[in-house]
Amino acid sequence: MADMQRHFASDNYAGVCPEAWAALEEANRDHAPAYGNDRWTQLAADHIRELFETPCEVFFVFNGTAANSLALASACQSYHSALCHEVAHVERDECGAPEFFSNGTKLLLLPGEHGKLTPGGIDEAVKRRTDVHYPKPRLVTVTQATEVGTLYSPGELRAIGAISKRLGLKLHMDGARFANAVAALGVEPREITWQAGVDVLSFGGTKNGTAIGDAVVFFNLELAAEFEYRCKQAGQLCSKMRFLSAPWVGMLRDGVWLKHGRHANAMAALLHDLVVVIAGVKLLFPRQANSVFVDLPKPVIERLWARGWLFYNFIGEGGCRLMCSWDTQEEDVRSLAADLAEAMKGT
Ligand SMILES: *Cc1c(COP(=O)(O)O)cnc(C)c1O
Repeated sequence: MADMQRHFASDNYAGVCPEAWAALEEANRDHAPAYGNDRWTQLAADHIRELFETPCEVFFVFNGTAANSLALASACQSYHSALCHEVAHVERDECGAPEFFSNGTKLLLLPGEHGKLTPGGIDEAVKRRTDVHYPKPRLVTVTQATEVGTLYSPGELRAIGAISKRLGLKLHMDGARFANAVAALGVEPREITWQAGVDVLSFGGTKNGTAIGDAVVFFNLELAAEFEYRCKQAGQLCSKMRFLSAPWVGMLRDGVWLKHGRHANAMAALLHDLVVVIAGVKLLFPRQANSVFVDLPKPVIERLWARGWLFYNFIGEGGCRLMCSWDTQEEDVRSLAADLAEAMKGT
């Protein structure tokens, strides 16, 4: 493998992109008011409002688990339920934080092809029971791009938004990889969020190239009421807030966030093309964003790990997830594909 260790385990294995780093340095020159009362935080929130072309309330928290959990809690009482896909990050990868921060809101798990919810599935889950013994459905949460690297089209999201509205449900989007989704779909951010009915978005920065810090973006301003108290109580109010927010300014200037999203997607597209032609490699999901999911024989996985490649084989519905990031290079992709082809030969 290449000398430089760039892996395919997750886009959070990558470092901080130069633009986010430069903004951090700029923010480090002076004193500034604490707890978000600084000009960087103001500017980052203004950039986000410009990006979505609508009034919205913006809060910066340390990570995606906090963004998702607190967003869900903002809409749900303890006796409510939130509908999500059975492989959703909120269900599988947040250690019960959504339930914890909402004091017991129950996640109702729905199946769906390619990691996606469907309007029919939502309708069925809500109408299954309407009595007082059932946790009252209150919110739908979708992941864009999904846990298995697929995308909801704008039309699919509008359909989910419409049924949610009809059923009196709020709509949350886990956008840990929102940049990859927007870049891949070639849409305006508004088209797959508030114009499709999304009330609140967890807007991921970390996997896009910042060090820490995701944004919670409320298009439904009522849900944002007192949200700052939720953040503070949950230990999510950063006192030196400008170091969470300044990198966002660096990312949102001149479309940097999309450039990085597009690049990661392109690397995954190349990886896809190189590995699907290797005999014995089975693609598990359509490659639509910055990951490629493949089914590999166990000895092959072990050979690749022994060669020093890092990747996960437990995400989503299983299989190996090969994830590209803002700094994945073509040589990394070619080198991994070559090692995979070599490892498959012995099987
Ligand atoms: C990474 C990720 C998150 C956020 O995870 P944290 O580790 O809490 O930052 C949320 N949703 C999805 C789908 C993710 O992949």
